[in-house]
Amino acid sequence: MQPKSVHKSFESSQRSMMGSHVSALEDMVNFEAEITDNPLKNAFRGKATVHTHIPGQSFMGEEAVFVIKNQYENKRNGTSLAYIHVPFCETRCLYCLFYQNPLRPESSRHYTDLLIKELQLWSDLAAQKNEPIHAVYFGGGTPTALEPQDLYQLIKAVRTYLPLANDCEITLEGRIHHFPEEKMEAAFKAGVNRVSLGVQTFNTQVRQTMRRVDDRDSMIRSIEKLASFNQASIVCDLIYGFPYQDMAVWEDDVKTAISLPLDGVDCYQLNVFEKSPLGKFIANGKLPAGADKEERAEMFARSVELLTQAQWRRLSNNHWCQTFRERNIYNRFGKSAADCLAFGSGAGGKLNGYSFMIERKYDEWAKKVEAGIKPIAFASAPNAHWHALRTVSSEMELGRINMRRLSEAYSLPLSTLSQDVFDQWTKAGLITPVGDWMVQTVAGQFWHTTMAQLLVNVLGKRLAQNK
Ligand code: SF4
Repeated sequence: MQPKSVHKSFESSQRSMMGSHVSALEDMVNFEAEITDNPLKNAFRGKATVHTHIPGQSFMGEEAVFVIKNQYENKRNGTSLAYIHVPFCETRCLYCLFYQNPLRPESSRHYTDLLIKELQLWSDLAAQKNEPIHAVYFGGGTPTALEPQDLYQLIKAVRTYLPLANDCEITLEGRIHHFPEEKMEAAFKAGVNRVSLGVQTFNTQVRQTMRRVDDRDSMIRSIEKLASFNQASIVCDLIYGFPYQDMAVWEDDVKTAISLPLDGVDCYQLNVFEKSPLGKFIANGKLPAGADKEERAEMFARSVELLTQAQWRRLSNNHWCQTFRERNIYNRFGKSAADCLAFGSGAGGKLNGYSFMIERKYDEWAKKVEAGIKPIAFASAPNAHWHALRTVSSEMELGRINMRRLSEAYSLPLSTLSQDVFDQWTKAGLITPVGDWMVQTVAGQFWHTTMAQLLVNVLGKRLAQNK
């Protein structure tokens, strides 16, 4: 395959979407999509964001700890989550912007001991002590990089220091690399009931170009092994848009996932960040660019077609399942207004609309935990309508939204204030109104993150003017 001449990073795509006159994402209020024959490929100039951004007031250091501690004094209510971060990876994947620390021989034990200490720090405060937590997610980094005994102890500690609901979804995210049977056994024995594997692609050449270590056969064998325990929902992430991953490779990825004993699959679009090793390799001509915007749109549509034909059910625009074991609770509520307690160096959480980040620098984090200080580095206080706007954004991920119901739930004129937006998107082929429901077409599903950001921006500004 020849290198492509035109490469668009995520940032350049975002800049072309925002235009030269808009400097902050939340100020992007021109919601109009192109009226074109092919909205799937051409509705917008680029992708506006990876996740919806809703601005707030920032606090750092001790002030951030104070602000979040106040929130911890109150009980949570409704669906609640917890996120546990493991900030090590054995190798760095080329496309990754979130790599934190290399895994060293002593990392697993040292980190586990301190993380358990962090879990204990505010365990007597109301937000941690009371009311059930419905989904826990061990993410990273690579949680499966921990040694079996450490993994077991960490999961047990989470079950001790957090009030998990009886039917709590407990997800372990990981890689197949260094995830032997002994580690699988330790995870299941400790109570893991969902495993999320970052497969990304089954194609050995594409995988290894991206510095993913294992080949196709090892991936398949490991998925089959995990499923054979019959203890958990086994799901995998697939990504489209890598260099050397053309439509034939992508079709094979989706068909391979369909053929395996998986409970669920996520199909994500690759974001090539300028600062990632992949972004630099493409910019320097060391690797060809992957699929462009139009080709990615076709790849997305093809995955919808294949999974629909195979009778998989859709839980959100990106997430599909073929069994009733798969619930996708953490991902479903992670971007909503639900509370999420967070632990571990680099973790992010939110409580009553206040978002917070745990110290990302490992040594700083370790020093604070050893000193008995809650290692919160950053906090952000919510704006006036954060709950409604978060809910609007997370509903858009589900492929449909009912603005009338949301207006009633929040006693806000959300439906009236967004009518012209949905009318224009309907004209542009992104939405099909069905009664009160605004249902996304396949083109709308492909563009839903951009549409969610635009909708939240428009509503945020109009609600402020409407006071
Ligand atoms: S395993 Fe995940 S976090 Fe680690 S480098 Fe690869 S993509 Fe990044």
